[in-house]
Amino acid sequence: MPTQRLANLIDGRLQAAQHDAWLDVHEPATGTVLAQCPDSVAIDVDAAVAAATRAATDWANTPIEQRAHLLQRLADLIEARLEEFAALESRDSGKPLALARGLDIPRAVSNLRHFAAAIMAWGSESHAMAIGASHTGAINYTLRQPLGVVVCISPWNLPLYLFTWKIAPALAAGNTVVAKPSEVTPCTAALLGELSIQAGFPPGVLNIVHGRGPTAGQAVVEHAQVKAISFTGSTATGAQIARTAATQFKKVSLEMGGKNPAIVFADADLSDANLDTIVRSGFANQGEICLCGSRLLVQRSIYEAFRERYLAKVQALQVGDPNDARSDLGAMVSRLHYDKVLGCIEQARAEGGHVLCGGHAINVPGRCADGWFIAPTVIEGLPSCAQTNQQEIFGPVVSLIPFEDEAEALAIANDSRYGLAASLWTADLSRAHRLAGQLEFGIVWINCWLLRDLRTPFGGAKQSGLGREGGSDALHFFTEPKNICIRY
Ligand code: NAD
Repeated sequence: MPTQRLANLIDGRLQAAQHDAWLDVHEPATGTVLAQCPDSVAIDVDAAVAAATRAATDWANTPIEQRAHLLQRLADLIEARLEEFAALESRDSGKPLALARGLDIPRAVSNLRHFAAAIMAWGSESHAMAIGASHTGAINYTLRQPLGVVVCISPWNLPLYLFTWKIAPALAAGNTVVAKPSEVTPCTAALLGELSIQAGFPPGVLNIVHGRGPTAGQAVVEHAQVKAISFTGSTATGAQIARTAATQFKKVSLEMGGKNPAIVFADADLSDANLDTIVRSGFANQGEICLCGSRLLVQRSIYEAFRERYLAKVQALQVGDPNDARSDLGAMVSRLHYDKVLGCIEQARAEGGHVLCGGHAINVPGRCADGWFIAPTVIEGLPSCAQTNQQEIFGPVVSLIPFEDEAEALAIANDSRYGLAASLWTADLSRAHRLAGQLEFGIVWINCWLLRDLRTPFGGAKQSGLGREGGSDALHFFTEPKNICIRY
């Protein structure tokens, strides 16, 4: 069977890259080539930005009801093919099919629906002024206008979930979009592109350009017509984008890496269900979620008892074929990433870390014999300053760190260049509030993890992020405020 070739979506038409160059896309569970995506370069980006520029004025003037209707229609079309999307996402990324079916694709649908509804309810501010004592005054009102052509760049770990998280508010706010999904997992974005034509989006409103970061990605960030860049990915790439955008004064929203602490106090309710959530917070999606708690801080008075229960649960996690409903973890997304994570585990050993479980690749027999699987790994015995506790590994690797008291927990948690998300487990509400205020993170979960309300500001502090996404923050990002002052 010939390998399936994905298409760029430019000006409402599905097309190959102009130089007819292709990138292999692998199925991580089998190591085989699943599809090919266009290896686009600047000339393809130019065509996409030109189409987006031509479409910008009409789309900005399209009534919000119609913009919202098209987003809802796209959500309906994805929902109607949820199984197909879930299977494709799982094959492309290596994640368990059940996770793609239960989390990724439903969340993509929710993203589109959320911003379709949000734009309908969105208003802008007005400010009345008194002038002197003359009973005259002025009224200011603020228009929030679309920016024009904006860029959305997404990573491979939650492919459709994060792709829609960006394009939905951008389109809802009246911008035209050039989107670049990750070249590692481009399949569901390509299928969404096809459905956007079916949904009835006018040509040029949504353009999707596939390709590598340093070529297609860099070209779209550099393009003079582009007004704003919404990026999710690594901190190194975010820094490169910020450098490029700075000289052109483009708006940027950067969602980047993390090294998140989960902090367990002795008084926490460690019911089985809560312990399951703590385990999930380290290993969901093979640990390939920017919000995963890869540093597990545990109060010393319960450390040993906790470790025993925790390890039993981690060792019970099943690593296997993503299609198998019993698999808790699937394959690492790429050979490159698999090698990187195994290298980090070796580094942890070299630093003096003690591997309590896992620490090795796993061979899954049968169709997955050549897949890239790693056993869930728990390490202890490393100080906070160790590389293992400082660098983002982005795999199924959790480091256990004991602490004495609240002050030490806070110091260890904040001892990071990252500041994305922290989770706190305690029954002491005063402590929870006190610590939540002092943790240097954009998101703090108390007695839960990954509970997301799409209206809340989402993003990281320090080197995890610049700006916030979600709810009205996203709509603010994708619009330019203009104040109009009328004297009366
Ligand atoms: P990455 O930075 O390698 O790539 C992300 C995207 O940027 C891809 O589409 C890539 O092609 C593109 N890109 C690469 N170089 C570029 C350049 N010079 N110009 C423009 N675009 C370029 O990240 P990744 O490996 O795909 O994703 C994993 C990273 O994403 C991890 O660090 C993870 O923490 C982070 N992440 C963060 C969040 C968050 O919300 N903060 C969410 C998910 C993932």
